[in-house]
Amino acid sequence: MKIAFIGLGNMGAPMAANLAAAGHEVVGHDMADISIDGVTIAASGAQAVSGAEAVITMLPNGKILRTVANEVIPAMQGGAVLIDCSTVDVDSARAVAQQATDAGLLSVDAPVSGGIGGAAAGTLTFMAGGSDTAFAKAAPLFEIMGQKAVHCGEAGAGQAAKICNNMILGVTMIATCEAFALADKLGLDRQKMFDVVSTSSGYSWAMNAYCPAPGVGPESPSDNDYTPGFAAELMLKDLRLSQQAAESADADTPMGKIATKLYEQFVEHENGLGRDFSAMLPRFEKRGRS
Ligand code: NAD
Repeated sequence: MKIAFIGLGNMGAPMAANLAAAGHEVVGHDMADISIDGVTIAASGAQAVSGAEAVITMLPNGKILRTVANEVIPAMQGGAVLIDCSTVDVDSARAVAQQATDAGLLSVDAPVSGGIGGAAAGTLTFMAGGSDTAFAKAAPLFEIMGQKAVHCGEAGAGQAAKICNNMILGVTMIATCEAFALADKLGLDRQKMFDVVSTSSGYSWAMNAYCPAPGVGPESPSDNDYTPGFAAELMLKDLRLSQQAAESADADTPMGKIATKLYEQFVEHENGLGRDFSAMLPRFEKRGRS
């Protein structure tokens, strides 16, 4: 299959490489000068998508996605599928899907979980929104780039699932970190804290699989001086998307709101930029009751 891939950054480059390694003809395009083994680079998005049966985008945000969609949708061949794997706001995902439908194309919003490691290993999870036909056309490509794809519903449902999942993650990471900091001040050994919580009702992915306390639980970014991993600024991006979605859907998300404020404070005023999102623990440790 001829596949166009637009946005060859930290995530897009390894995903495109995996499609090429699986035997597909991949034509890539990025604003930056990037080269990838097995991928032909085109000078523009419109050139890349010409004659492609599938077009994948992996871009920083919804505004850029809308700009790229304006360029590539008119250049795509009828019946081709546009698969957006970026994490973007639900409104942009739905607007681009409508634009694709109007142009006689199929489309899927398919944000991913699994990070740069999952992109390289081909073990991403895709959360997809779109018609059954569009999902069926994209599914074989999800199989190459990932290990699981969930068809969540119509256009925008993939982004909705991603944003809700990451809002839970941001909130539980903060709760886990503040509880560790409290446990420290109460003189509780961190390993004992882990042994209890990870097998009690406070357990979570943040505690059990990605423990923010160094030397405790399975290896995680905390064991590597909080080098990401999943950077705090990416968590902030996703939390802001959750609040934007809550605003437009008139949903009450008080914990999501507080988590957004805390990550904003951490990233913008407390040297959190470039640190893993679990570095909230040393942040709380330093603080007294406010
Ligand atoms: P990145 O910044 O490394 O890559 C984005 C790429 O898009 C860059 O190479 C940039 O040059 C290119 N680009 C920007 N504007 C463009 C345009 N108009 N035309 C062509 N190319 C353009 O970001 P990333 O880490 O690869 O993330 C991509 C998306 O995946 C984001 O939406 C992010 O939220 C999401 N995501 C990232 C991770 C992660 O761990 N990095 C995990 C899950 C989801």
